[in-house]
Amino acid sequence: MRTYLDHNASSPLRDEVREAMAEALSLHGNPSSVHAEGRHVRALVERAREQVAELAGAQPRQVIFTSGGTEANVTALSPGNVNAESTDRAVCFIGAHEHPSVLAGGRFSADRVQPVGVTRDGVIDLDDLSRLVETHREMEPEASFMVSLMFANNETGALQPVAEAAALARENGGVLHCDAVQAAGKVPVDVGALGAHITSMSAHKIGGPQGVGALVLGNGMASLRDVLLSGGGQELRARSGTENVPGIVGFGRAAEIARREIARMGELAVLRDEAEQAIAARAPGAVIFSRDTARLPNTTCFAVPGMKAETLIIALDLAGIAVSAGSSCSSGKVEKSHVLQAMGVGDDLAAGAIRVSLGWNTTRDDIAAFIAAWSDVHDRFSKEAAAA
Ligand code: PLP
Repeated sequence: MRTYLDHNASSPLRDEVREAMAEALSLHGNPSSVHAEGRHVRALVERAREQVAELAGAQPRQVIFTSGGTEANVTALSPGNVNAESTDRAVCFIGAHEHPSVLAGGRFSADRVQPVGVTRDGVIDLDDLSRLVETHREMEPEASFMVSLMFANNETGALQPVAEAAALARENGGVLHCDAVQAAGKVPVDVGALGAHITSMSAHKIGGPQGVGALVLGNGMASLRDVLLSGGGQELRARSGTENVPGIVGFGRAAEIARREIARMGELAVLRDEAEQAIAARAPGAVIFSRDTARLPNTTCFAVPGMKAETLIIALDLAGIAVSAGSSCSSGKVEKSHVLQAMGVGDDLAAGAIRVSLGWNTTRDDIAAFIAAWSDVHDRFSKEAAAA
């Protein structure tokens, strides 16, 4: 019996999604072919486009399927997608807490990427962004800009002021890209209300398959001017390559269910809060990051001074609980969290940060199992530390 509490890393595939994908896997035909087989799989792709569009509050024609959130981000982040007369002078403003796939700057050269500060709560500093935009407008009045701001942080869950940043970008002739990979399906996302020009999503954070995502174009962005993959002209010329039909079908089904179940997120917040209360009761020195700002309902990131995340994660894993370090650990190693660093958290405390993320199949029993195992590990460590 395992308890999986790492949904922000990847959420288990939902049964309905598996069934829909299995059906699609047994079909053949290229969605671009005009024969019956091709038309059949094309219809499935277009149905999934509707389902994903509905999750994002968009129209199907605004959705472009990609191979995941990373590809969506890298595709969006290009000076060519900024409404500029001279794209070579365009800059991209990126919060220091963004996902690595955004931090890398996409196709902006490193000298055209400008970091934006983050508050102690883990929220982008809008004043800093506003100052940077103003300076850029003064220095390079001919050149426009892009702001890339995530909807919700993957480590802390902190929600970001995307609508405000989008308004700021629009007022100054810029473009806003929003990485909504963690937010979609957990909080309502409406690209129209947000004002984002381009929004990224990923299937495997909502019970869909890994390796499929989408870009959603917003008002003022009828098409992408600079695409990452060109060739066959699929996806309205915005993303060439034969569509991943089973993956897209799975994404569509997961989006449909996630949208229906968004109301259940309140229940997850209750469970998350219970876990936090249990942690605070046992370890009064525990720090829960971004607790004083609006967060995703499913995420908690905390540290207990003196307890190393790496040791904690291994001990919890042995006890049957899967959680992750607060830091991004794409290499399998626990690295220093750039998010906590951007928030001004000291290295020692940050080294103890673990992230617990709940999801569609999380139950009260899972949280009870986590609290019991964490308390046990905590007490053991505390005793060892006292004896040392
Ligand atoms: N953006 C955020 C905020 C994420 O959390 C992730 C994945 O962890 C990604 C982008 C990348 O998405 P994908 O794994 O689909 O490439």
